Formats: sequence, C-alpha cells, structure tokens
Amino acid sequence: MIDLRSDTVTRPTPAMRAAMAAAEVGDDVFGDDPTVNALQARMAALTGHEAALLMPSGTQSNLCALLTHCGRGDEYLVGQMAHCYRYEGGGAAVLGGIQPQPLPQDAQGVIALADLAAAVKPDDEHFARTRLLCLENTWNGHPLPAAYRADALGWAKGQGLATHLDGARVFNAAAHAAGPGGDITAALRAITAPFDSVSVCCSKGLGAPVGSLLCGSQAFIAQARRWRKVVGGGMRQVGLLAAAIDHALSHHVERLHDDHARAARLAEGLRTVPGVRVRSAATNIVFIDVADGRGRELLSFLAERGILATGLIGMRMVTHLGIDDAAIDTTVAAVRECLSRPPHNPT
Ligand SMILES: *Cc1c(COP(=O)(O)O)cnc(C)c1O
Repeated sequence: MIDLRSDTVTRPTPAMRAAMAAAEVGDDVFGDDPTVNALQARMAALTGHEAALLMPSGTQSNLCALLTHCGRGDEYLVGQMAHCYRYEGGGAAVLGGIQPQPLPQDAQGVIALADLAAAVKPDDEHFARTRLLCLENTWNGHPLPAAYRADALGWAKGQGLATHLDGARVFNAAAHAAGPGGDITAALRAITAPFDSVSVCCSKGLGAPVGSLLCGSQAFIAQARRWRKVVGGGMRQVGLLAAAIDHALSHHVERLHDDHARAARLAEGLRTVPGVRVRSAATNIVFIDVADGRGRELLSFLAERGILATGLIGMRMVTHLGIDDAAIDTTVAAVRECLSRPPHNPT
C-alpha cells in the first residue's frame, strides 16, 4: 500500500512504541504527568514561547486559541481557505459567538495587507470588534514568505490586534527555511516566536499518532487550559502520547527533508506525464490537475494498485515517513500507465 492521502496516515514506529511503553505517567488534569510536563516545556522552548499545552487535535488547539483571544461579538481575520476558518466546523462561531472575517488568499496563502486593512472594523456598535489575525504556515504545503510574515505581524501590532499562527505543519516550513543541513530549530523559532500564539500538529509529518500543542504566554495558556477542559480535552495518563511526540521531536524532524525531496521527485516525475499539470509542489504536498476530466478514473486506477491519493481540491499527494523513493517511482509509473491508455469511461 502506498498511501499518499495525507501525512496523518503514518503509524508509530517500533522505537516510538517502545518510548510510549516506557513513559512515566500521571493524571494530567491534576498537572501530574511528568512526560506531558516535560513535552510542554520542550515545545514552548522550541517555539520561543513561555508555555505550551498538549491538545488531542489541531482543531481543538486552534479552537481553544480562538476562544482565548476572542470573546462573544469579536472577530478574527483569516484566509478564505484557511483551516481555522473553513475546515473546523465553524467551532469558534458555534461555541464562542466569534465571527470569522474570511479574506482571499493568493497561491502562496498570502492575504494582501490592503485587504486586511480594509477588513478592520471601526469602533462602532454596528460592527463586531476586530481582535485577531490568524495566519497559516505551511498553507497547502507553501511556506509563508518571510517578508510577508514580518509585514503582516508588524501591521497587526500597529492595529492592536493579537496574532495566532496555525502552524499545523510549521516544522515543514522550518525545514524548508533552514534547507538540508541547516538549523531547523533556529528557523522554527524565527517563524513561531513573533506570534502571540502558535498551534503545532504532531500527528502529521512528525509521525506521532495523536496530538497538537498550543504555545503562548503563561497567562494565555492558563486561559486556554480552562477552554480545553470545557471542550472535553482534559486527558488523564496522556504521557503515553506525549512520549510519542517527544520521540518524534528527537528523531523525526531532520527527516522532513526526505519528505520534501520525495515530493520534489514526485512532481518532477509527474511533469513528464502527458495529461498531468503539476499545480503546486512545495514542502511535502503535491497538487496536480488531470486533463480531460480523467481525475476520478486515475484515482480508481491507482487505488486498484494500492496507491491512495485524494481529490478534494485538485488531486493531492502527500509524502511522509511511510513513503520511500520506490513508492514515488511506482506512483509516477502508474499515473503514466493510466493516462497513456484511451479514456476508460468517457462521459
Ligand atoms: C490538520 C490541520 C489542522 C487540524 O488538525 P487535526 O489534528 O486534524 O484536528 C489545523 N490546521 C491545519 C493547517 C492543518 O493542516
């Protein structure tokens, strides 16, 4: 099976399972789990924040960040296709009475500063109170350009807005910024420290089975901890999961370069296949368009050969620690074989 649907499909390695089995645990709702406490301290230091909080999912981490930054009748500025607007069930509105102000993004995920400025509401009873700017890095695999990051954060500060980074795949952004052999930790801190809060997923490229961490000031995290309990995210002997994440931080960060190299290899191979247009290939995510409406046919051709991809937005293929060079070459060959045949089911 070659599963390119997402980097969330990774399974814990034997070494990660051994680390989980050996973890010291306690009741984390009482703050008693030493493995969780150590992991939270480690992630806070890595991201350049005072404190961090382990959450069961990235969605809950973003939700608790929004609930902490914003109150009822407040709003956040966010990309039209951003995860914490479009893909989280409207949780901030459902649970917090918080209004999103979605704005267009370009192909890199950038929201124009002029659009941000035009969306800030005057202090007037007609309007929601604009409180927060949310950015996402990486977005569809694209690292947010460094110059834009600085400009947007400077602008937000000038407006008195808080800032949140949905950094589900921010380790991929850091690996990309550092380059092979570069200092990923320094690159990560440069990206994450300037935000008021940052959410990081550990169950994607990092390869842990479960978990995200929300990072911010002591006061921010204390409030987020209350919200985490409210939404049912207080867990007990969760050091078992923290140990998996700690293992990933020690052993699965440098290897993100391998995922990026394999995504580049996949894109390079697919560019030579007639009928395929590589729409975007950045860090570990490749999007393709398939000519003549043959996307669905291609997906099922691949699935019959044990190769899984998704067609949610274009067709998407994601590299991760379960994908080696041979899997990439097998996939390119299968795409070529499918599209070199006459259309199977023309409609
Ligand atoms: C996956 C993802 C999330 C949410 O993570 P879950 O753990 O699946 O809830 C949030 N933001 C972005 C950008 C993501 O890719």
